[in-house]
Amino acid sequence: MSKKNDLQEKLCYKNENAFSKQTDKQKAEIFEFCEDYRKFITAAKTEREFCESAVRELEKAGFVSLESKKSLKAGDKVYTVNRGKGVMAVVIGREDITDGVNIVGAHIDSPRLDLKPNPLYEDGGMALFKTHYYGGIKKYQWTAMPLAIHGVAALADGTQIKIVVGEDEKDPVFCVSDLLPHLAVAQMSKKLSEAISGESLNVLVGNIGCDDPDIKEGVKFAVLKLLNEKYDIVEEDLLSSEIEVVPAFGARDIGFDRSVIGGYGQDDRVCAYTALRAVMEMKEPEHTSVCLLVDKEEVGSMGATGMQSRHFENVMAKICSMCKSDYNDITLRETLSNSTCLSADVGTAFDPNYPEVSEKKNCAIFGGGLVLTKYTGSRGKGGASDACAELVAKIRRIFNDNDVKWQMGELGKVDCGGGGTIAQFVANLDIDVIDAGVPLLSMHSPFELSNKLDVFMAYKGYREFYKNN
Ligand code: MN
Ligand code: MN
Repeated sequence: MSKKNDLQEKLCYKNENAFSKQTDKQKAEIFEFCEDYRKFITAAKTEREFCESAVRELEKAGFVSLESKKSLKAGDKVYTVNRGKGVMAVVIGREDITDGVNIVGAHIDSPRLDLKPNPLYEDGGMALFKTHYYGGIKKYQWTAMPLAIHGVAALADGTQIKIVVGEDEKDPVFCVSDLLPHLAVAQMSKKLSEAISGESLNVLVGNIGCDDPDIKEGVKFAVLKLLNEKYDIVEEDLLSSEIEVVPAFGARDIGFDRSVIGGYGQDDRVCAYTALRAVMEMKEPEHTSVCLLVDKEEVGSMGATGMQSRHFENVMAKICSMCKSDYNDITLRETLSNSTCLSADVGTAFDPNYPEVSEKKNCAIFGGGLVLTKYTGSRGKGGASDACAELVAKIRRIFNDNDVKWQMGELGKVDCGGGGTIAQFVANLDIDVIDAGVPLLSMHSPFELSNKLDVFMAYKGYREFYKNN
């Protein structure tokens, strides 16, 4: 290489797909990791299922429930579950906890169709479930494809019935019908956002009536009978249930070279899974490692299981008090102030089918690695938590020193739209925070795409952050 090229290399920042630069050994490691990931998200499609699977993995890795401990010391590994929909996994560090903890925070809820509280009705000789969609979906993407039903019914006697239909090969699946093109003249001339209405996202669940002429709405009745036989529930039990309608297919490798994973709910289970894997590897870090997996991000982080809840602070207070016998309120305040957080949420990658929404110098690319997003928000950074330059520099150094392939990326062109993550709510706790996650294509669709190198680099980035910050 000429001197001039050396100088150019030194002076210019460039971002490129790094897959071909990996050694065969590195590629094998990436593919192996992503195969574990692919299986995990195929099996855990809801926040409750993610929670259960996470606890299983954590216990295998030697974590015990926080509630089973009286005090904590360096090297202790604990977890706690928030109402079955969120998990915190913590590895206590060698340094005093008031020096701050390293948090990687992701969310485990994904856009979907939720059943309405009173969902079952009959029309046109069919039984259907009414739904109310959850999060930012494009409604037309949820029609005419196989759907599964996942959830729980909480019974008045305190027991909980798990309902999962549509995942086993032998199971039936469900479906929201769409209009045939022949009769869709009016529909096809509507805006995409209006072509499918929220109230038309009704799921077909049965079509055989009952023979008894005295029974009104026999098809609905027949479905209730089946539900009662299988789950021992009655219609009123559906009123105290949380049942989610999700795609019925699993995650798959994409492409001749299998470089990409397609699957439902990678926003944000891709960051949640990689964060979980990273925290499980910590032995006795310098600073305490915290993996924080929350619910309700897709609807604004509200509620007791969302990031706006006091749950995180409450658990941190408990952990601080278990680390320090002279605990007082300042112990918690200092710990939070001195902490750092990677808000582990997905970004968007450049899409050759829609180049018009990306600004090429400032968008992430597939295979470019873990994407740091300095700020999110919309229309002049409105609603953004803008990470300070000093934090970006610190994270950049950790990643560069430890061979983590990373890139900087904004969510689309200025004024093209925008979005947010849990970062702003973490920042409200006086914690330095920056978004760091996996860039996706087709985000919020039933089949989101991620690049395997990026998935692996998220895991490696979170791990090195825990180790070196
Ligand atoms: Mn997200
Ligand atoms: Mn999202």
